[in-house]
Amino acid sequence: MIRNTSGNNGLFIPGPTNIPDQVRQALNVASQDMRAPDFGEFTLPLFRDLKRVFKTESAEVFIFPGSGTAGWEATLTNLFSVGDKVLMSSFGQFSTLWVDMAQRFGLDVEHCKVEWGLGVPFEDYRRILEQDKEHKIKGLFVCHNETATGVTSDIKQVRTILDDLNHPALLCVDAVSSVAAIDFRMDEWGVDAVVTGSQKGLMMPTGLGIVAVSQKAIALRAQATLPRSFLSFDDMMKHNATGHFPYTPATSLLHGLRASLDFLFEEGLENVFDRHWRLAHAVRCGVEAWGLELCAKDPALYSDTVSAIVVPEGFDSGEVLKAAYYRYNLSLGSGLSKVAGKVFRIGHLGNMNEIMVLQALAGAELAMKDCGIQIELGSGVAAAQETFLLNNRVSLKQAA
Ligand SMILES: *Cc1c(COP(=O)(O)O)cnc(C)c1O
Repeated sequence: MIRNTSGNNGLFIPGPTNIPDQVRQALNVASQDMRAPDFGEFTLPLFRDLKRVFKTESAEVFIFPGSGTAGWEATLTNLFSVGDKVLMSSFGQFSTLWVDMAQRFGLDVEHCKVEWGLGVPFEDYRRILEQDKEHKIKGLFVCHNETATGVTSDIKQVRTILDDLNHPALLCVDAVSSVAAIDFRMDEWGVDAVVTGSQKGLMMPTGLGIVAVSQKAIALRAQATLPRSFLSFDDMMKHNATGHFPYTPATSLLHGLRASLDFLFEEGLENVFDRHWRLAHAVRCGVEAWGLELCAKDPALYSDTVSAIVVPEGFDSGEVLKAAYYRYNLSLGSGLSKVAGKVFRIGHLGNMNEIMVLQALAGAELAMKDCGIQIELGSGVAAAQETFLLNNRVSLKQAA
């Protein structure tokens, strides 16, 4: 099939996300002396402002050239040792991959396998930690927003479990597809390590793996013996103190980050979160109007950054994706691994607004219809439009 590429690329995958013009322009900079004595005047405010995004006063922030996956690896290798017992759970592709990485590094993973569409298994975590009287479990791992299934888990509940049991395990959180789109409160939730990447909520190209680490975890890193070199917190901290880096930083991406942070603060973080809820809610109402279901099993788990939509029995979501891509120049997110063929996803995070969401819904309707799925054209769009009407907004949020 020949792809129709005229018009704008409809990009509705949950990362990389659409890049604001301000950010794209900021990326275009001449090469810069990264050892210049005043380089820190540019870089130190980036660390300070990332703390605002993570909502932490005291954490150390690390900016690695890499992606979210590098952030996972930095967390594991700087804070743990071979044979360390850790508690993890999987309920989607990303949480599964973090477990896999921990196992490859030789950690002793207590792995709670959860049905895809559900979230962090609080009861299991509580039971397992309760039995761990000797505090053998060194780390507790959580995927805040499982991008494969569109499930957000409540991090505060995990902190409550640790506090109730007075358990000292480090709380490590994958927030790659939530930071800067869904509220994240590192200090309030007592998170010890949080990982994100540049190409999701931060609306940048891929290329930065960003990690924030609590002082408690920083203090423990000397005891951790996994080898680390490129992703060493120690090396970074030595140079970051003056705003420099142990090796050549991705300077143009740092300029993009500056623009992205300015863009976020201009709207206001709370407004950014609110917008994401509004757009997500509209998508969810659209899906309901189609008579289809989300992969996420419970409204309390619905993600404000991505929705995974289950196609009816007998249909292949891959065909919907192809129709959308080739005929309508619209990229929707694919079903990954266990849910391949079963779901397609709409990424509604980052530089996104109401009319863009309607574009995604209208395109998804066309693509589904092309594949023979019986939905009523315009039904999802109309349902979403209803939620955008000024008069409906306030009451909808109260009712949800
Ligand atoms: C995208 C994503 C990752 C992987 O990040 P990369 O930047 O692709 O390495 C990890 N976790 C979640 C939840 C993600 O959405």
